[in-house]
Amino acid sequence: MKRLLHSALNLLSALPFPGYCPICNRESINGSGWMCDICWRDLPLAGKNLWRSETTLKGACLAVFQYSDTARQFVHQMKFYGREDIAARLGSETAGRFADWMDISRYSAVTSVPLHPARIRERGYDQNLILARAVAERLSLPLRTDFIRRVKHRPPQSRLSDEERRHNLKDAFAPQPNLNQPPQGTVLLVDDVIHTGATALGCIEALERTGVQRVFVLAACG
Ligand SMILES: [Zn+2]
Repeated sequence: MKRLLHSALNLLSALPFPGYCPICNRESINGSGWMCDICWRDLPLAGKNLWRSETTLKGACLAVFQYSDTARQFVHQMKFYGREDIAARLGSETAGRFADWMDISRYSAVTSVPLHPARIRERGYDQNLILARAVAERLSLPLRTDFIRRVKHRPPQSRLSDEERRHNLKDAFAPQPNLNQPPQGTVLLVDDVIHTGATALGCIEALERTGVQRVFVLAACG
């Protein structure tokens, strides 16, 4: 009972005051009850190419926002406190910056780094899919969820070493059995936070087996 009360208090203290931005304490005019438009605008950008190895892995990766303390806070809210609205906003903001920097005409579809069905049941939603949907909407590209799936349920990656991550993600993704014809051109693979790139590389390998020609990884944070 004591533990339950403690976790309820923890949850409450992590929630922002309704109507006020938890970052700057200004009154939030966008009504989302989370970060205000000014803080979204001022969020530090990463804008970095993390890797580009188009010959061997047919992929490249760009992270839009720095994984700063603020970004860490909203990713935490998005993943562990049921804030699907933050995922949608983050997806839209990520896509907006990406469209400012890149020629988006070369992309033919958007897909997401899939979560395992057990993780989706546990969380109640798939934050990567919400992000990807918002990216697809903002860029007017089709969202495809029929390419790959996650076949291994593993512990969260954050506590593992780089080597353990790579081992953990080996064969974690596979082509979907009900795959439709993949599109020509480059597919945008959307992920929330990119660390070592091991997850994205696992997805790219599975995507290659579906016949997707090129992959560009778009990470919200990195
Ligand atoms: Zn603010």
